Amino acid sequence: MLKSLVQKRYLQLVKIVQQDLDYTGVKLMIDLHTHSTASDGTDSPEELVKKAHKEGISALALTDHDTLAGLDEAEEAARGLLPVFIRGCEVSTKTPSGSMHILGLWLPRQCEEVENFLVDARERRDKRNRNMVEKFEKLGIKIVIDELYALGKGSLGRPHFAQLLLEKGYVENREQAFSEYLGENGKAYVPKNSPTPEEVIPLLTRNGATVIWAHPLLKDRSTEWVMETAQKLGPYGLAGLEAWHTAQGMDKTRTLMNVASQTGMALAGGSDYHGLAKPGFRLGHAGAHILPDYIYDNLKNYRLQKGLAI
Ligand code: AMP
Ligand code: FE
Ligand code: FE
Ligand code: ZN
Repeated sequence: MLKSLVQKRYLQLVKIVQQDLDYTGVKLMIDLHTHSTASDGTDSPEELVKKAHKEGISALALTDHDTLAGLDEAEEAARGLLPVFIRGCEVSTKTPSGSMHILGLWLPRQCEEVENFLVDARERRDKRNRNMVEKFEKLGIKIVIDELYALGKGSLGRPHFAQLLLEKGYVENREQAFSEYLGENGKAYVPKNSPTPEEVIPLLTRNGATVIWAHPLLKDRSTEWVMETAQKLGPYGLAGLEAWHTAQGMDKTRTLMNVASQTGMALAGGSDYHGLAKPGFRLGHAGAHILPDYIYDNLKNYRLQKGLAI
C-alpha cells in the first residue's frame, strides 16, 4: 500500500512537470534534513514523524547534530506512517574557511565506528559548553551547566544556551541570543574543536552513508569556493550538495545545481526543520517552495547505481 502511495505521488509529479503546472498547494514532499529533541529540535523523534505524516511527506530523514540517539524511535514511529524513513545525522566539521556541516544519509542500523566517533564529538561539545558557561559567568550571566543539560539528553549546544537566555530574560528572542552572545562574533562564543571534512566524509562513506554537504551557500560563501571545495572533497567520498534549504533561497538552488553538474555531485534537499527552535522552517519546504519527490528519487537511484542499500 505504501509503495503505491509513492508511485501515485510520482505520477502526479510527472504530470505536473510535463504540463508545467504550478506546485503551489500540491503535496508531493520529501524532507532529507530535520532535527529532533535528540539534538536541537523541539519535537521528539516520534512527534516529528507524526507531523511529517500529517504534512503528507513521503520520505523523511532525521539528521540530528552529532548523534544517532533519535533514530530508533523515529524509525519505529515511521512504520506504517511514512513510506520512506532514512537514518541520518549532521556532523559539524571545520575547514580553514570556517565551519562546514556534513549530512550522512542512509546510515545502517549498526555503525559502531560512527557511533564511537560521535561519542568523541559530543565530548568536545561538552568541553565547549563548559567554556561558554565560564564566559557567561564573566559577563555576569548566571547559567549553570546542569540547567543546560536539563534541556535534553542528546547533543546540546548553542541553541540550548539561546533557550536559557530567553527563559531567564537576558534576550528577547533567539536571534538576539545569537547576535549578542552565541554567534561567531558574540560575546560568549567559543569555537568548537571540530574534525575536518577529510576525516568525517570517508568515515561516513565507508559505513554505507551517502554524504551530502549541508547548506553550502548558507553563510554567503562564494560559488568559486564551493566549487573548489566540492572538487577537493569528491575523492574523499562527498556525494552531493544540499541545493534546497530553507535559508538558501531558489537563486542559490540554481547556483548549486550548476556547481553539482560541473563537479559530478548529486543533489539533495531538506528544510533543516528544528520545530520551535527555528520558527518559519517548515517540514517539507525550502522557504516558500516544497521539496519535491524527485530529490529523493534521484538520490535513491544514485545509491542503487552504486549498489548501496536503500
Ligand atoms: P552548535 O552546533 O552548538 O554550534 O550550534 C549550531 C546550531 O545553532 C545550528 O545548527 C543552528 O541550529 C543554530 N543556529 C546557528 N545560528 C543561529 C541563529 N542565528 N539563530 C538561530 N539558530 C542558530
Ligand atoms: Fe541545529
Ligand atoms: Fe547545519
Ligand atoms: Zn541542520
